[in-house]
Amino acid sequence: MHMHIKDNLAEVDQQIKKACIKVGRDPSEVTLIAVSKTKPNEYIDAAYKEGMVDFGENKVQELRDKMEEISHRINWHFIGHLQRNKVKYIIDKVSLIHSVDSLRLAEKINEEGNKRGIIVNILVQVNIANEESKFGVEKEALYLLIHSISKLSNVSVKGLMTIAPYTDNPEENRAFFAKMKELYVDIKSKNIDNVNMEILSMGMTNDFEVAIEEGATMIRVGTGIFGERNYK
Ligand SMILES: *Cc1c(COP(=O)(O)O)cnc(C)c1O
Repeated sequence: MHMHIKDNLAEVDQQIKKACIKVGRDPSEVTLIAVSKTKPNEYIDAAYKEGMVDFGENKVQELRDKMEEISHRINWHFIGHLQRNKVKYIIDKVSLIHSVDSLRLAEKINEEGNKRGIIVNILVQVNIANEESKFGVEKEALYLLIHSISKLSNVSVKGLMTIAPYTDNPEENRAFFAKMKELYVDIKSKNIDNVNMEILSMGMTNDFEVAIEEGATMIRVGTGIFGERNYK
C-alpha cells in the first residue's frame, strides 16, 4: 500500500540532484523535508526506513499524536500556522518552527523557551506574493519584525520560509523565490545579533525544482513522496 514511497523518494532525490546540477549547486546543500500531514505513521516508518529523518507537520494535535507513537529519532519540523496557546505543546519537541510571522507569536515562544531553559530555532514566514489567504509577514514589514525578534534571547532566527502561490506552472513562482533569496542575502549581510540566515525553506511538490534553482536550502515535499492527501 505504501510501497510507492521508496520509488517516490528515489525520484524526488533525482529531481533534487538535477536541479542542483543545472545551477551548479551541491545537492548536500538541500535538505528534503517529508511532509507527512494527514498520513498515518506507517508511511513515516516507510520513509524513515529509506533514510528520511526530517518530517514536517502542520497541526499541533496531529504532531503530538504521531510523536507519542513513534520511537525513532526524527527531526520534526512545524510548518503550519501556530496558535500562541499551543506553543507550549511543541517547542521542546520540534527541531525547527518554520512559521513565525508575528512578534506576538515570537514573544510567546521566547517566554515558553525561557521557562524550559532552551533556545528555540525558528524561521520567519514571509507572504512573498501578498496573498490575502496566506499567513506570513509581508516583505515590507519583514525587517522590523526580524529586528524585534532578534532581541528575544530564547529565540534564534535561522532563516526564512515561504509558501508560494499554488500553481501548475512552477515558472510562475520563480520571481517569488528569487525575491526570497534576495531578502535572505540582504538580511544576512546586515549581521544582526541572534539572526543567522542559514536556512531558506521554500518549494513544495509542484515547484521545488525551481525553488532549488533559486537558492532553497530546505524543500517541503508531501504529495510527491506520500501521494495525494485525502481530506475527509
Ligand atoms: C502541505 C504543505 C507542504 C507540502 O505540500 P505538497 O504540495 O503536498 O508537497 C509544504 N509546506 C507546507 C507549509 C504545507 O502545509
